[in-house]
Amino acid sequence: MSQPQHDVSLASVYQARRRIAGQAVRTPLVRSHALSERFDAEILLKLETQQPTGAFKLRGAANMIAALIERHGRDALEAGVVTASTGNHGRAVAFAASRLGIAATICLSRLVPANKVAAIEALGAEVRRVGESQDEAFGEVERLVSERGMTLIPPFDDPLIAAGQGTIGLELMEDAPDLDRVIVGLSGGGLLGGIGAAVKAIRPETRITGVSLTHGAAMWESLQAERPVAVEEVASLADSLGGGIGLDNRCTLSLVREVMDDHYQVSEVAIAHAMVDILEHEKLLVEGAAAVGLAALAEHGIQVRGQRVALILSGNGVALETLDRARAMCRR
Ligand SMILES: *Cc1c(COP(=O)(O)O)cnc(C)c1O
Repeated sequence: MSQPQHDVSLASVYQARRRIAGQAVRTPLVRSHALSERFDAEILLKLETQQPTGAFKLRGAANMIAALIERHGRDALEAGVVTASTGNHGRAVAFAASRLGIAATICLSRLVPANKVAAIEALGAEVRRVGESQDEAFGEVERLVSERGMTLIPPFDDPLIAAGQGTIGLELMEDAPDLDRVIVGLSGGGLLGGIGAAVKAIRPETRITGVSLTHGAAMWESLQAERPVAVEEVASLADSLGGGIGLDNRCTLSLVREVMDDHYQVSEVAIAHAMVDILEHEKLLVEGAAAVGLAALAEHGIQVRGQRVALILSGNGVALETLDRARAMCRR
C-alpha cells in the first residue's frame, strides 16, 4: 500500500489511544429514543460533552504533547507549549500540558472576556494578553516559537492532532461495529479527518458525513476550489466551527477529501432548533457546533431510515446567553 499523504494511519490512531488513556475519557455512545423514533432509524449520540474539558479537543492535544515527549524527550519541551485558541482547543492544551507537567502559554487578544481567561488560568496555563484580534494573538505565538523555542500545538492541522481525534472512531467501531453512518461537524477537519481515517480503515462502507456552516465555511470553499482558501468569518451559534483552515494547510484538507462521503451546510435556525431539541429531549446541554449533525438530518432530510447513525456531540462550551438566543430563534 502506498503511504497516504496525510500520515494518519490506523496504527497512529491506536498509538494515540495508548497515549491519551488516563487523560481523555472513553465517552459513552447512547441511543436516543426520541431521535430514533423521529427519523425511523437507530440514532446514537457520542457524548464528547463528558470530556473533562467539555469537548473532544483534549484527545488531539493530549496525543500531540505526549507524542512529542516520547519522541524528543521532556527536555525538548523545556520552553513549554503554546497556542492561541480562545475556545475548546486552548482549554485542552492547558489541561493536557498541566497533566503532563509541561508549561503552557495561551495567547489571547484583549477582546477575550475575563471569564474565559480565568478558566484557562485556572488550568495552570500562563495567559498572555496581546493585541486586539485573533491574528495579533497568533503573531505572538509565532514570536514565542521563534524567539523562546516554545512548541506550537495547532488546533487541527497536524497528523498527531487528527490521530488523537480519531480515537473517537475506534470507540464507535467497538461500540457499534455495524454502524452505517457517522455525522460530524466540520471546521478545520481534525475531527472528521481523524474519525474518518479510523472508521474507513476498519469498515470502509460506513459513510462519513460532514456538516459545515452556510456562511464562512472555509473547508467547504477549499474543497470546491481544491486548495486552501480564506473566507470571512461570520458570527454563528456554532462558534467552534468558525475560522479558516490555514492557507498553508498540509494535512486536513487532503485527509477530509479522502475520507468524507457527503457534505451538508446548515442554517443558523436549524442549529438553534437542534440545540433546543437536544436540551429538551435528551436533557443534554450542547454547544451549536455539537448540534449540527441533528440540524443536517432535520434540514436536509438525509435518508437514514433503518440505518444505525452516530452523531458526534462534540462539546458543551455554550454560554447561557447563546442558549437564550437559540431559544428566541425557535420561537420566531
Ligand atoms: C473544534 C470543534 C469542532 C470542529 O473540529 P475541527 O477539527 O476543527 O473540524 C467541532 N465541535 C467542537 C465543539 C469543536 O470545539
